[in-house]
Amino acid sequence: MALVFLCLAIFSYRSLEAQEKTIYCGSDAYLQHQQSVDPNLDRTLNEVAVQTRLATSTVELRSRDTIVIPVIFHIIYQNELDNLSLALIESQLEALNQDFLGLDPSRDMQQYPQIATPYIKFIFAPYDPNGKPSTGIIRKKTDQSSFTRRGDAIKFDETGGSDAWPRTDYLNIWVGVMEGGYLGYAQFPGGGKAATDGIVINTRYFGRRSGTSLGRTAVHEVGHWLNLQHIWGRGCQEDDGVADTPNAEYPGYGCPQERETCGNRDMIGNLMDLSDDNCMNLFTQGQVDRMRAQFAPGGFRESLLYSIGIHPKEEECNGCEGNPPPEVTCPAPQNLSFFIQNGYFKASWEGMAENYVFQLKLPFMNQWIELSRSGKDIAGYLSGFTAFEARVRSVCGSEKSDWAFFQTSSSDRKSSSPTGSTFTVRPNPVGDIAQIEWMPIDFHYIRGETTLREIGKHTYLSLYNTNGVRVYHQACQDEQSASVNVQGWSAGLYFVLLTDEQGYPIHRAKLMVH
Ligand SMILES: [Zn+2]
Repeated sequence: MALVFLCLAIFSYRSLEAQEKTIYCGSDAYLQHQQSVDPNLDRTLNEVAVQTRLATSTVELRSRDTIVIPVIFHIIYQNELDNLSLALIESQLEALNQDFLGLDPSRDMQQYPQIATPYIKFIFAPYDPNGKPSTGIIRKKTDQSSFTRRGDAIKFDETGGSDAWPRTDYLNIWVGVMEGGYLGYAQFPGGGKAATDGIVINTRYFGRRSGTSLGRTAVHEVGHWLNLQHIWGRGCQEDDGVADTPNAEYPGYGCPQERETCGNRDMIGNLMDLSDDNCMNLFTQGQVDRMRAQFAPGGFRESLLYSIGIHPKEEECNGCEGNPPPEVTCPAPQNLSFFIQNGYFKASWEGMAENYVFQLKLPFMNQWIELSRSGKDIAGYLSGFTAFEARVRSVCGSEKSDWAFFQTSSSDRKSSSPTGSTFTVRPNPVGDIAQIEWMPIDFHYIRGETTLREIGKHTYLSLYNTNGVRVYHQACQDEQSASVNVQGWSAGLYFVLLTDEQGYPIHRAKLMVH
């Protein structure tokens, strides 16, 4: 009898846990709500997506330079018990650093070759926005017994929460009792206003406790804050925007040994799934690239690299008037010329400097993308874009000239240049042979260097059916075209993917077989 009772007790505990897990993460619903109340958000999200796409095409992101992020914890409590101890807050910071610095030995037991370390470190913000020393912790007593995702009341002083510190300089982590069993939610890059940027963690799941609450709710939410989607995307058909995470049909819970959906083994252990905390411990290279892309030039989180939370502003200079300004010894480039057609562009200039900085800005981006050059020209391919702004300046030692702007509106149609689309699949729909062609070069930027990527060496062409099953695979050595015989294939939609030698997507297209 005692045994039966024990089994029942365990059973009900597990089903309770499963029930909680089904409403685990509010980030997707939060984003949907933000989009519904702010129609301008789509534009910002689009910008972030383009920047992420450009930046993740560079392997330079795979640096081991650690990115340091100052964190401000807002501990909001009504009940003294929820005024969490310093030790518990420290344990949360450790849990973040364990996964973002790749320090968990259990990760090495995982069999996936694509496991990678973000090299992102979180510290208590040493300075506040006014440059005063800070503990990185704000504690506030509230008259709210609990908070909801939709109201965001936890993020504002006047609604019983705590105002955000500037998102350009800090990661805001709000901790409070949440209604409805939510573990937490995050604001995606560009997914809401500055005043609400950050993550919210339910007090009960904050910090390293025991069993299935080891601080990984915050790890998962910071993943969203750095633009990661859930690993299951929106089912088998729509993935998470990351090439090296296997598709999954739905979130995984608990800690199973094996699970298979979408015709492949699910990546149990990925921190963007919903497994138990003691069961998740890995990010993939694709996820790491996506997160680090947020810190690349023009990235949504780039300003954190220069945070006033770590490097407070210097005092204003009083009494520096005595020194006359130095003479102009670094003239701006001259005789600028610019050509653009069908996405291909070429810019050139003249000057005497040893180095130049070239910048361009896509029509709906707020920030300039920067490229350093020792030469006096630059060419590249920006698929899908017909116009953008461009400017260049000289770099003479530590001195920089004024910007010189290119006349980018008119194009010289007499110049010879590659034309046409950068990746074509013809005919489409197809019944027998599909001819697939791509350009030998693609626009490509790496922090501070290089402008062109040559495509054609060691690329791989793959076709997938709508179940995510690869039905065709070919290595392309120095070729920019392939013929795929689809005779005998089932009619329907296929996805064409061209990847580089490291498996990174260069081009995607859809192919209809009839
Ligand atoms: Zn989530």
